[in-house]
Amino acid sequence: METIRQQMIVLLTEKEMSARELSQAIGIREKEVYEHLPHIARSVAVQKQKLIIQPAQCLGCGYVFKDRKRFTRPGRCPHCKQSHLDEPRYLIS
Ligand SMILES: [Zn+2]
Repeated sequence: METIRQQMIVLLTEKEMSARELSQAIGIREKEVYEHLPHIARSVAVQKQKLIIQPAQCLGCGYVFKDRKRFTRPGRCPHCKQSHLDEPRYLIS
């Protein structure tokens, strides 16, 4: 468990990645990535670092999900109701 989080921290310190990319890089399910992210946010905060979320964006109208506090990706756009959305990406800095 701890090792997975450490791997995620190493990856996210190097570059920003989506949950899908993280799941492929580490070999876990995307759902598990979302479960680990809040813990990672807490552990990097101890080291005066921050888990930054690059918000998801609607590919239909360009709406950015800026105020979204949850780590999981949104289902569809509140503006144009499309579900053609770019994935949120994560980065530690
Ligand atoms: Zn939209």
